[in-house]
Amino acid sequence: MEQQRREEIIATLKTVDDPELPSVSVFDLGMVHSVDVEQGLVTVKMIPTFIGCPALDMIKKDVKRAVEVLPWVEVCEVSFSMQELWSTAAITEEGKTCLKKHGIAPPPEHYVVGEEWSVQCPYCESAYTSIENIFGPTACRSILYCRACKNPFEAMKPIIAQPANDKK
Ligand SMILES: [Zn+2]
Repeated sequence: MEQQRREEIIATLKTVDDPELPSVSVFDLGMVHSVDVEQGLVTVKMIPTFIGCPALDMIKKDVKRAVEVLPWVEVCEVSFSMQELWSTAAITEEGKTCLKKHGIAPPPEHYVVGEEWSVQCPYCESAYTSIENIFGPTACRSILYCRACKNPFEAMKPIIAQPANDKK
């Protein structure tokens, strides 16, 4: 039964959108670290995505509200773990598809820190090579113009989790 309840929680988390990225759920962004169910008490541990995105409180409230709609849930506690590291590699395939549908290029896979990276235009899929420094240090996304189809599109900056011992 616990397993079934966990699955219900996950299905619910897939309906909670990130306020910064409408229509991509917090689950598909890879923000859900763990879900614990103990009778009517649900504990959701989440990993914050972009440092500096001021939406964490809103996400907390949205997740709590959505989970507490389930009839068997008495209380849902949501917390953000600052120990866990999120990276754009945690975005699910479904999440990437949702991003593209909304004109946002998902971050590149196999990104190596410090290297140039290219993104694909979400409309025509042509490769657009961007240069790291067009993104500010805290910006989550940036607006680019596709050279092939001339559409503006947004791209998510790749973020790779750095091991904690590199941060001295
Ligand atoms: Zn294009």
